[in-house]
This record gives sequence, structure tokens and C-alpha cells, in this order.
Amino acid sequence: MNSRRALRLGGKRIGPGERKRVELPVARITTGDWLALSVEVLHGIEPGPTLWLTGAIHGDEIDGIEIIRRTLARLDAEALSGTVIAVPVVNLFGFVSESRYLPDRRDLNRSFPGSATGSLASRLARMLMDEVVARGDWGVDFHCGSDNRENLPQVRANLDDEETRRIARAFGAPVTIHGKAPDGALRKAALEAECRALVYEAGEAGRFTESAIVRGQDGVGRMLRTLGMVEGEEQPSPDTVESRRTRWVRAARSGICRIGVALGERVRTGQPVGEITDPFGDGGETLAARCDGIVIGRRVNPLVYQGEAVVHVAQVEA
Ligand SMILES: [Zn+2]
Repeated sequence: MNSRRALRLGGKRIGPGERKRVELPVARITTGDWLALSVEVLHGIEPGPTLWLTGAIHGDEIDGIEIIRRTLARLDAEALSGTVIAVPVVNLFGFVSESRYLPDRRDLNRSFPGSATGSLASRLARMLMDEVVARGDWGVDFHCGSDNRENLPQVRANLDDEETRRIARAFGAPVTIHGKAPDGALRKAALEAECRALVYEAGEAGRFTESAIVRGQDGVGRMLRTLGMVEGEEQPSPDTVESRRTRWVRAARSGICRIGVALGERVRTGQPVGEITDPFGDGGETLAARCDGIVIGRRVNPLVYQGEAVVHVAQVEA
């Protein structure tokens, strides 16, 4: 005899042990047709935490979509303890136009918690908060390097909270960065709604980075086991390096930049990490790391303007 209650979402009833796809209408597009948020819910037979997974809040950051797809393919609602709510594509508008933003150029990840009467971004944010995020005990929001940058797989979380730190370590990204999320970010709004959340940043916008996808999928798998939602041998997590501060190396001049460090490489303060010259190779300016740490992001387009962020370093004591 099962006493767990059904979950209701978007007018649908998802009983214990069921997996269902739910469409949440967001807004009409200019053709007059409706765009709807597609949500997949796996409601386990046994009680447990509710975990949401969100991808493409920035519409061109698509690695998370693949991580969520592979995670869902492995899960069985009947064997699950708790509930998984997956929204692989949150920013539908940006996704179809392969853009980070919404049609009005707003950044969805600066629009949370949103409002039912605000801008399109604000309304979409509000709907996700009410229908998905606020139901969660935990969430993972997936992002990629944007604007011609690639990221080493990294988790961002509030490491001052012991339970969040435990789960972030179980996730086991190469680097785990402490921080309060910026105003308007989903992670911040989730915390304010009493839902613990991680951000997983990896790879590059506009493409699949297989290593970033695999690392993310494995991380979610370990998170599910550590939270007791999925049975199975607890796999030891790979070591993660914790950092409480990150610093950018910025271009000292405009020109053509050759970066001399790889993602994941350790650097020391003052160490050269690249050089910028004119097209003939003249006027070279060396770029130097500003702290001891690990390279967590780098620019992939060699053409830079003065002041542009080129290499991102997570500060770690040597
Ligand atoms: Zn993003």
C-alpha cells in the first residue's frame, strides 16, 4: 500500500512511480502560436527530496540540455526516491534563435524571481519559480562559457552552508567555487525560496563539449546517490579544489591574443599566461596571472579589445 501523494503540475497528475511530460504555456510568439515550457517529471514511489534540473536559461548554452537528456535516460521513476523535475530548455526564445537572451535582449538569469506582469523574461522567470523551483529541495542550473569563452567544469555554490558543500563535493567538478549568486540569478532566487541550488558551468556556448557533458552527467549521478534518491554503490567523488575568489586577466591592449595556458592548468602570480600583439607580431604585451590558482576559463576567439577578459583564474593557495 503506497501512501505517497500524486504531484500536480500544469493541470496534470503525476502518480507515484510515474514519468510524465507536462507543457506549460509561456506566451504566444509573433505568429500567434503558443510557446510552452516542456517539463519532464519523474515522481518516485518512495518519498525523498525533490530535485530540479534546468538548462539553457541562456538560450545558446546547450551542454546542460544534453546532460539532462542523458540523466533522464538513466532514471527509472519506479526506482526513484523523491522527485526529479527536468526543464532542459528554459529560455525557449533564446534557444530557437541560438541567442543568450530573450527577444527584448533581457538576460533571463538576471530576471529572477520575476513577476507575472513584468517583461517577457520576468514572466518566464516567475513561471519557472512557481511551477518548478519553489517545489524543490535541491536544484542544478546548467551553464556554459559565453561570449567566445570556454570553461573548465566547475560548480558554483554557497559553501558556507555545510549541506550544500557536502553535495557540491559529491558532485565532484574539478573546481568548486564559493559565491553568492548575483541579484536576479536563478540560484539566488532559489535560495530565497529555501531551495538549495548549484550552478554547473562547463564548456562553451553554441556547441557540445563531450568532456563537460560527461563530467556533468556523472556529477548529477553522484548527487542523486548522495541524496538517497537513487540506489547503488556510492561512487567516490573525484577530488575537487575549492576556491573562494576568482580573478580575470584582462587584455592590456587590443590585438591578437595567443593564450599559453590550458583549462585546469595551475598558475602562479605573475606567471605569463599569454601575449597580445598586432597582426605582424609587433608590440607584444605579456599577460600575467594576478593570483596563484587554476585556469577555469579562457577566451577562444583570439581577437581582443583592450580591457577584455581573457583568462579566468580561480584563486587557490599554492
Ligand atoms: Zn549562462
